[in-house]
Amino acid sequence: MGRAMTESTYRIQGATGDWEVVIGLEVHAQVVSKAKLFSGAATAFGAEPNTQVSLVDAAMPGMLPVPNRECIRQAVRTGMAINAQINKWSRFDRKNYFYADLPQGYQISQLYHPLVGEGEIEITLDEKDPDSATKTIGIERIHVEQDAGKLMHDQHPTRSYVDLNRSGVALMEIVSRPDMRSPAEAGAYLRKLRTILRYVGSCDGNMEEGSMRADVNVSVRKPGGELGTRTETKNVNSVRFVMAAIEMEANRQVDVLEAGGKIVQETRLFDPDKMETRSMRSKEDAHDYRYFPDPDLLPLELDDAFLEECRQSLPELPDAKRKRYEEGLGLSAYNAAGLTAEAETARWFEALLAEGARIQKKSEGEVAKASANWLLSELFGALNRLGKSLDESPVNPEQAAELLALVADGTISGTIAKQVFEIMLETGDAAGKIVEEKGLKQTSDTGAIEAVVAKVLADNADKVAQYKGGKEALFGFFVGQTMKAMQGKANPQVVNELLKKALG
Ligand code: ADP
Ligand code: MG
Repeated sequence: MGRAMTESTYRIQGATGDWEVVIGLEVHAQVVSKAKLFSGAATAFGAEPNTQVSLVDAAMPGMLPVPNRECIRQAVRTGMAINAQINKWSRFDRKNYFYADLPQGYQISQLYHPLVGEGEIEITLDEKDPDSATKTIGIERIHVEQDAGKLMHDQHPTRSYVDLNRSGVALMEIVSRPDMRSPAEAGAYLRKLRTILRYVGSCDGNMEEGSMRADVNVSVRKPGGELGTRTETKNVNSVRFVMAAIEMEANRQVDVLEAGGKIVQETRLFDPDKMETRSMRSKEDAHDYRYFPDPDLLPLELDDAFLEECRQSLPELPDAKRKRYEEGLGLSAYNAAGLTAEAETARWFEALLAEGARIQKKSEGEVAKASANWLLSELFGALNRLGKSLDESPVNPEQAAELLALVADGTISGTIAKQVFEIMLETGDAAGKIVEEKGLKQTSDTGAIEAVVAKVLADNADKVAQYKGGKEALFGFFVGQTMKAMQGKANPQVVNELLKKALG
C-alpha cells in the first residue's frame, strides 16, 4: 500500500497524522463430528451433492431437530482449552432470513445465551522468535450454530444449483474482542487458534476446504482515541487473505476519513484477485433477524459428570507442552516452539523420544535434544524436498530412533547418518541393516587414522608450514581432508586428537 509502518507498533501514516487499526475476528469453525448438529446425516467432505441430507436438513414440514451430544461436547472442550467460562445453561435461538441455501428460512444459532462465555488466547507475534512479544487476546464467546448449504452457478446455460450436504453441519462461532492492532497480530491469532483447535480435535482447521473461515471486523482511530465505526468483511478463507483484507480495509477507511467522509457500518467482501474489499450490504442489526428462542428445542443443561468428562478428555495443550519441552526436557525455546506448533509434530517427536530413551543409554534430555534437532532439520528438510507432510513420512519414529541411536553410541558419524537417512528414505530399509551392508561403521582405530593423518600432512606440507606460522584456521582443512580420505567413517573426536598431536 506504500504507507510506511512505524517500528514496533503498526500505524497507518495519513496526511493528518498516525492512525491505529482495531481488529476483532469472528471465526466459524466446523465441528469435527460424524453427524450434523441436529440430525444424523453424515458430514464427510467431498461427497456427491445432496447425498448427505436428512429430512431435518432439508427442512421438511414437521421435522424436529435433536441436538447432537458430540457437537456440544466438542464446543465445550474447545471452550475449556481457551480457559473460557462454560455456561451450564444455554439456549438456541432462531435467526430468521431468506436465502436459497437455507430451506428452513432461519438458522438455529445462539444469540442470547451462548454455550461458552469469556476466555482468552495468548499469541506470540513471531512464533519462531522466542524473544518476540506475547499478547493476550480476549474471547467474548463461542456459540454453536448450523451451517447453510452451498449454491453453485453455471454460466452456459445460466442455471443455479443447491447442494444441501453442508446444511445443518455444526459450526462453532468463536468471537474475539477487538484486541488486535495489526495484520500480523490477526495472523498470529488465527494460527494459534487453529493450533488449539487441532490439538483439541474439535475442528480440522482446514481453511482451503472451508472448515475454518473468518469474518474480519476493522476500524481505525487516532491512537488511544474512541473506537471508530467498524466494517465487517465476510468469509475470508486464508490467513494471508485475512491479513491482506485488514490492510486494504484499514487504508480505505483512513482515505475516507481524511477526505472528510464517514465510515458506514456495513458488510463487505474481500476480492483476492483485485486485492480490495467491496461493499455487499449495509449491516443488519440483531432486530432485523427477529431472533427468538427456538420452540422446537429445550435449553441445554450440562451436568457436572459431562463437564468432567470433557475436561478429562483434553490433551496437553500447546502452551503447556512448549513450556514442558523447555523446562522439563531442556530444549531451546526455538525448538520447543517448532515442535509444538502442530499437534502432529509433537506426537511424532514424543514417539521418537520414547523409543530413543528406551534403546539408548543417554539421559532423556540428551536424547530429546538430538531428536529435536534431527526432526526439525533433517526430517523436515527431507519432507520438504519430497513435498510430503509428516503423516506421509516414509520413515516412522521407531526407524528414526534406530538411526539416532547409531549416532549416539558412536557406531556412525553425523555425516554418515545423513547418507544412511537418504537410503532409508529410498529403500525403507532399517538403519542398522544399511550400515552393516554398506560397511559404514565409524572407526576409532587409531592406527588406521594415524596413517591417514600422516599422509594428509605429508601431501600438504605448504599448508602445514602456514599452520605452524600461525594460520590456525587451517586445522579444519586437515580434519576435512582426513575425513574425506576415510570416506567419513573416522570418529571425528579421534581425528581431532590425532591431528593435534601430529601438528603438535
Ligand atoms: P455482530 O455479531 O453484529 O457482528 P458483535 O458485537 O458480536 O457484532 O461484534 C463482532 C465482532 O466485531 C467482534 O469480534 C468484535 O471484537 C468486533 N468489533 C466490535 N467493535 C469493533 C470496532 N470498533 N472495531 C473493530 N472490531 C470491532
Ligand atoms: Mg458479526
